[in-house]
Amino acid sequence: MAERPYIVGNWKMNGTRAMLSEARAIDRAAQRYMKAEVAVAPPYTLIHAVHREAEQIGVGAQDVFPGEDGAHTGDISASMIADAGAKFVILGHSERRADHKETNKLINAKIDSALDAGLRIILCCGETLKVREAGEAEEFVLKQLKASLPQIDDAAERLTVAYEPVWAIGTGKTATPKDIEAMHKAIRQLLDETYGEETSAEVRILYGGSVKPDNAREILSIPEVGGALVGGASLSAESFLGIVVAASETEDA
Ligand code: PEP
Repeated sequence: MAERPYIVGNWKMNGTRAMLSEARAIDRAAQRYMKAEVAVAPPYTLIHAVHREAEQIGVGAQDVFPGEDGAHTGDISASMIADAGAKFVILGHSERRADHKETNKLINAKIDSALDAGLRIILCCGETLKVREAGEAEEFVLKQLKASLPQIDDAAERLTVAYEPVWAIGTGKTATPKDIEAMHKAIRQLLDETYGEETSAEVRILYGGSVKPDNAREILSIPEVGGALVGGASLSAESFLGIVVAASETEDA
């Protein structure tokens, strides 16, 4: 794997200023586990405050408006989140695809805006249970990714892919190690074909879906798993750091 394992907390629509103590605890502890790269994506309202707490961890956003600053009531542009201290944005998350009917076309426009503002991207993909049970998971995920992988020259350097089976998000269910490995290998092959092997090797592929301290070690040691996108377990420093510790120990193994 080209880089350190990347452990990213997605706080979703959770967190008030009271959560800043968790961010501080995550940041201070991350300084002791430098074998993992650690980041959190708080809601917009906390990006700047978490950025001010963060000496070690990266801070990102969970969405962005696909366009320039201007007359778009209630929206937040890429340059605004960059100004608040965000270095990356999560795009294509299944909750946004479902709750806001986000299409690949819209996601592509968001990717362009984020790249233009100098942000890194975590591009999410994943199949529903129905698709997996129909035996079409790989075909579905690769099609989803093919529709959105950025083609701009230096885009791959700022790209992370997160494979998140929709049925595993927030459910306590995880895909089997065999299925995770097979999907990550298929994604790697697509990245190799799209960017060439050398550039593709720079793109980490994260797994997401009910990653917890007690399953992190097993998941993070699967070939081609370059880290984890963590929802529920990122909301407390204790559980999130359990995953960070597992990641830095997996690096030692
Ligand atoms: C997520 O929403 O990206 C996620 C993986 O959530 P959870 O860890 O709660 O399944």
